Amino acid sequence: MAKVSRRQVLKTGAALAAAGTLSGPVFAQEFYSRPPTLLPRTRAPRVVVIGGGWGGTTVARKVKQQAPEVEVVLVEQKPIFMSCPMSNLFLAGVKPLEWLVFDYTNVVKDGVIFVQEKVLDIQRDRRLVRTTGGYLAYDLLVLAPGIDYMYEAIPGYDEVKHLMPVGFKPFEHIALRHMLDRFDETGGELVLYIPPPPYRCPPGPYERAAMLAWRLKTKGVKGKVIVLDANPQPIAKAPGFLAAYNELYKDYLEYHPNTRITRLDYGKKLVLTELGDVPFSLANLIPPMKAGELVRTAGLGERWANVRVPYFLSEKDDRIYLLGDIIGNTPYPKSGMVAYVSGTIVAQQIVERLKGKPLSEIAPALPQNICYSFVDSEEAIWVSANYSWDEAAKQIKTQSAVDNQRSQANGIAAIGWATGIWNDMFGPA
Ligand SMILES: Cc1cc2nc3c(=O)[nH]c(=O)nc-3n(C[C@H](O)[C@H](O)[C@H](O)COP(=O)(O)OP(=O)(O)OC[C@H]3O[C@@H](n4cnc5c(N)ncnc54)[C@H](O)[C@@H]3O)c2cc1C
Repeated sequence: MAKVSRRQVLKTGAALAAAGTLSGPVFAQEFYSRPPTLLPRTRAPRVVVIGGGWGGTTVARKVKQQAPEVEVVLVEQKPIFMSCPMSNLFLAGVKPLEWLVFDYTNVVKDGVIFVQEKVLDIQRDRRLVRTTGGYLAYDLLVLAPGIDYMYEAIPGYDEVKHLMPVGFKPFEHIALRHMLDRFDETGGELVLYIPPPPYRCPPGPYERAAMLAWRLKTKGVKGKVIVLDANPQPIAKAPGFLAAYNELYKDYLEYHPNTRITRLDYGKKLVLTELGDVPFSLANLIPPMKAGELVRTAGLGERWANVRVPYFLSEKDDRIYLLGDIIGNTPYPKSGMVAYVSGTIVAQQIVERLKGKPLSEIAPALPQNICYSFVDSEEAIWVSANYSWDEAAKQIKTQSAVDNQRSQANGIAAIGWATGIWNDMFGPA
């Protein structure tokens, strides 16, 4: 990556000033008001993608594969990718961390420019992205930064959040897994809190409950998973999860529906709820969620960002596509599958647009979803949805299917689903 150092810029500036091009104070003013450029522009159209997760990596790679003449810049704050889908298998000790982790080598081999920087804000009027490494100009921008936690929704949480990894964003699982390993020795109450929707991966917390109970049962830990659910029942695959809880983990899991947390008292190791206080030895509290901060700083939405249904263009700016969990005004669940399929669709639409097709002539395409959940080390259940656009009603129609009967065949299909998508995102072209 060609980067111009600050010292080089200062040297050039000093030389220009000495040559009389700029006088001292004017130069200083010029220098500080002109931000450093991270990548100089070429004549190629440039698509900048923010977030190298399920949505962002997919769209970046597919635009470049379909239109090599386009400059595609993927900006991601982390050097490597870790999958949240299947991460409950890592927490339970069924799969190693390495199974979930990929690097961007093959994405870069395809010609995508990978920039490991954090995006600080987006200046829509100037079509600039400000990163920790300098500014990036764009012709089209894809925003896929995933979610943030609303710790403030649970009084007492924000002050101790560094002690309580949530494990709903990549890499937080490592600290959580260490805590679970220590919990094996002490045992006690392992409290898992599930917030009201919308949040990332509706069935994810219920799968985690089952896999943590599986862990306690197989290791013979003297402890119990206490699930405090703000919802009246599991918000996806309820019969399948409740059957697993009752039939497989009666002595290892207690499920409490309609139980909202009102406060956390970390010092006393107590979770306060509308139904009474619950003591814990270890707590994994999943807070309510919102779109990543950039959505708000760029003025693209409040809690979530809205798309121009049935497209993925921002309601506010037709040079910006929104992808993955940040979207608020569609029935799509916040899932890796939706982010991945939407990434494929958006890539196709961007390529058509850059080849000169007017926006009004680009046909809409909608994603589909399938979400597997493991309930033990081998068996899984699933739910799926197909989305279509009803032009007459101007609405998205949803057609769902579910399999609440846990089976090994579903478990094998789940592994095939994950490895197939990871391979498409990160494997050789
Ligand atoms: C426990 C669990 C289980 C799950 N199971 C499934 C499943 O079985 N099936 C399924 O389909 N989905 C599942 N999901 C959901 C899935 O992980 C998310 O829906 C998916 O990751 C969303 O993709 P995304 O691209 O929106 O965000 P992400 O994949 O989170 O990517 C966002 C990326 O943006 C980067 N980023 C954020 N801000 C910045 C910034 N300012 N500058 C630079 N980079 C930034 C982040 O580092 C991250 O890499 C699960 C989630 C969890 C937590």
